[in-house]
Amino acid sequence: MANKIKGKYIFWGVIAFALLAVLFVLSLMGAKNKGEDARSTYTMQLSFDENSNTLTGRQTIDYVNTSDNMFTSLPFHLYPNAFREGSKTPVVSTANKAEAYPNGESFGQIEITSVKYIDKSPANFEICGKDNNILNVILQEELYPEESTQLEISFITTLPNINHRLGFGENTINFGNFYPVVCVYEEGVGFSQNPYHSNGDPFYSECADYYVSIKYSSNFTLASGGEITENTQKEDKNLTQIKGENIRDFCFVLSKKFDKVSRQIDEVEVNYFGYAGDENLQVCLQTSVDAMSTFQEMYGKYPYNQISIVKSNFVHGGMEYPNIVLISDKITAQNDINYVIVHELAHQWWYGLVGNDQYNHAWIDEGLAEFSTLLFFERHESYAENPQLLIENAIQSYKLFEKVYTKVAGSVDGTMQRPLCDFNTEPEYVQCVYTKGLIMFDCLREGIGEKKLLQTLKYIVKLYSYKTISSAEFIACFADKCGKSMEGFFQSWLDGRVVIQ
Ligand SMILES: [Zn+2]
Repeated sequence: MANKIKGKYIFWGVIAFALLAVLFVLSLMGAKNKGEDARSTYTMQLSFDENSNTLTGRQTIDYVNTSDNMFTSLPFHLYPNAFREGSKTPVVSTANKAEAYPNGESFGQIEITSVKYIDKSPANFEICGKDNNILNVILQEELYPEESTQLEISFITTLPNINHRLGFGENTINFGNFYPVVCVYEEGVGFSQNPYHSNGDPFYSECADYYVSIKYSSNFTLASGGEITENTQKEDKNLTQIKGENIRDFCFVLSKKFDKVSRQIDEVEVNYFGYAGDENLQVCLQTSVDAMSTFQEMYGKYPYNQISIVKSNFVHGGMEYPNIVLISDKITAQNDINYVIVHELAHQWWYGLVGNDQYNHAWIDEGLAEFSTLLFFERHESYAENPQLLIENAIQSYKLFEKVYTKVAGSVDGTMQRPLCDFNTEPEYVQCVYTKGLIMFDCLREGIGEKKLLQTLKYIVKLYSYKTISSAEFIACFADKCGKSMEGFFQSWLDGRVVIQ
């Protein structure tokens, strides 16, 4: 998220050849029953009713147990429940409330109407977690490593009137985190079931295949992750089929105001969705194209067919999802719009491809998105964003934060690595994660050199694409590429011991 206004063979004969051919075909089909590349599949039939602002969905999940443990139940995040009346965690900070709810407070939720096993018999489930944020389904039988199970979940998501990831506003209807998504299982820890928080992006998910059909009124235009494979219109309804393979999450946006401009960079179609009448459509498209080209060169190929950059009503600066990013329509200065576009597109590598626990280790994806934005502007002088000034401003901004907090609270907590719920205020989160993240990676560059730093980041993308990286694994990659441990460096920053001067 952008919080500030300102992402072998040797031929051994016919038999061996045939075997290789079979393996090749299986890999193309995404054979998913065994091995560490196995992944789950979400097949969804969705229907949106604009009169009631409800999304009715039936979702079949083929879940593959890629862990070394046996499961008897499977938990899913129910993020929309954070938007319900009486939720324990507000979805926006007090400071952002008025802007988020222009028509007064409004509520949404997700109702699970049924859960069925593969034989269509009703499954046992409960809504639980710290804040009704978890759907826990008792499995029909024990699920052992490398086995898969199928569940069919029916739900109704009610959208609140809010300028947020999930909600309808004046210009767009945003469907972020609208469906039950399975919790990430971590060896030795268990399933990660953290509830929503207004600080940051409280999400953590694994790559899966998505096959989605969405029915909606034909006067809407749709922007989405994945790629549209079919679009049919019947009477006044559109039915759009979408395929998104090996993506970390699925998001879409509907609007009656969209005007789309597109450009192809090799196999990737870059789509910018602005509003009809906007004069900066081509400018925003150019920024998006430049960012995608720069980051592909810097970090490796973007392995999907399309990326959509979508203007939308959104309380923060922007928000990243796989193949789709939201850019707030409240930002008016082109420089600020460019900044957010670049930041969100960097997340396609740092979050989209290389996943991390955004709840506990937000400094990885946000720090790198900020640092990537700096690298972008250093390579594109035409954007008139002074890179040196970006660093100087970050240092000044952090020092001011320290000064003010010390004065008000007597001390300041500068630790970067803590759960989102442990940041006392949104500014504290922004300063410790974004600002300090940028300064830390710039300082690392000074220490090991830009070449080594970029080599390491490229190495991480190669090694961890479609996976999740822990903070220990992330730090270890620097030892791999730099030939010496960087643990002391990272720990002193993450623990807040480094004094910024
Ligand atoms: Zn971000």
